[in-house]
Amino acid sequence: MENSSVESTTPVYTLSTTSTLSGIPVHSIRQYIDKGLIIPFKKESNRNLFSQIDILRLKYIHKLLNEYGLNIAGISTLLALIPCWAIRECSAKERETCQAYHSDVNPCWEASEKGTLCKNTNCRECDVYRIVENYADVKSFFKTLIP
Ligand code: SF4
Repeated sequence: MENSSVESTTPVYTLSTTSTLSGIPVHSIRQYIDKGLIIPFKKESNRNLFSQIDILRLKYIHKLLNEYGLNIAGISTLLALIPCWAIRECSAKERETCQAYHSDVNPCWEASEKGTLCKNTNCRECDVYRIVENYADVKSFFKTLIP
């Protein structure tokens, strides 16, 4: 997926508008949120808002499900492979107690126990979470690590 403008990350669309713009049913988007595949922007009212880049992310998830034959658990496992500890350069001590480092089935942002570097970071804005927005696919990202 490409991210070319700052505005594309601004959360402005409601769930219903996001469904219309993405062509993905509201109940599916809710499921992706529940399963931790996408983190919507939360307003103070607790309402979810989405940006253009979130819509691209939703379409990517939808494509993995409907064209590539993955299921939700498969996508979660794929995202769990992203080496957040290397990207964020966590120390060996931090890794010891970080659930994100040890889980092979959930993406790091779903971890209940995170290292100190992550505890106060908004995952929605983290480079690790945004990898699927900034690369055509997860493998393209791996190619940057191991050419
Ligand atoms: S801040 Fe969140 S998304 Fe980033 S590495 Fe930590 S847990 Fe993962």
